[in-house]
Amino acid sequence: MFKFNIKSETKEIDGVYQFKINFPSFEGLQFVSMYLFKIGESYVLIDAGLSFTDCEQNFFSELENLKISPNDLRFLIITHEHPDHIGIARALKQKNPEIQVVMHKITRDVMKYMTDLKYATRIRASASDASLSLMRFGVSKKLSDKVLKYMTNFRSFTQFHEPDQVLEDNDEIVINSNKLKIIWPPGHSVGHICVFDYKTRYLFSGDHILSRITPHIGAFLPNPVMLAFQSLPQ
Ligand SMILES: [Zn+2]
Repeated sequence: MFKFNIKSETKEIDGVYQFKINFPSFEGLQFVSMYLFKIGESYVLIDAGLSFTDCEQNFFSELENLKISPNDLRFLIITHEHPDHIGIARALKQKNPEIQVVMHKITRDVMKYMTDLKYATRIRASASDASLSLMRFGVSKKLSDKVLKYMTNFRSFTQFHEPDQVLEDNDEIVINSNKLKIIWPPGHSVGHICVFDYKTRYLFSGDHILSRITPHIGAFLPNPVMLAFQSLPQ
């Protein structure tokens, strides 16, 4: 298990709370963020951070400081399946069974596949292929080995839970008189979504756009997922 010296901070930017989890350093990743905002009486959370160490406890303490109950959260929108975006989803659902956990259908399929023990051998073979491809493109063996380890150990980062709702490109989540538009720009991960708030005109870009680094393209996934992706209407 990773050991991090986790620090978290919360700030409000024009009605949006940013829960920022800082790392000392991890492969260029210095922090991950979760965003919380209110529409009418309902709160919407974009992404679920990490499950490591005290992230979960920090998040619920921050909520308490803001005098927001977990039961005030109506939606958790997961932009994609990476472990720094799904961490406390399960804990949140346990605290508030009414919360609607939503994600793109492909993200749901990828998570189900990557966490299913019966696909472990196939996942390992695909991960080995991906690792060798990376080295052919000039990535160091050390880093390729890390990718291999990450892909084969996905199950240890998370457990699959059926979302309450799956989304597709151009879907809209209607809350009171406002709408959130779902935009599907596959690339960083195949099922990655961005969320656009019509009223404030804010775009929650997940890892599709990052402030300091260029998101990596993460579409070299095991075959069944890619086949499902390729069978979608283009
Ligand atoms: Zn990511």
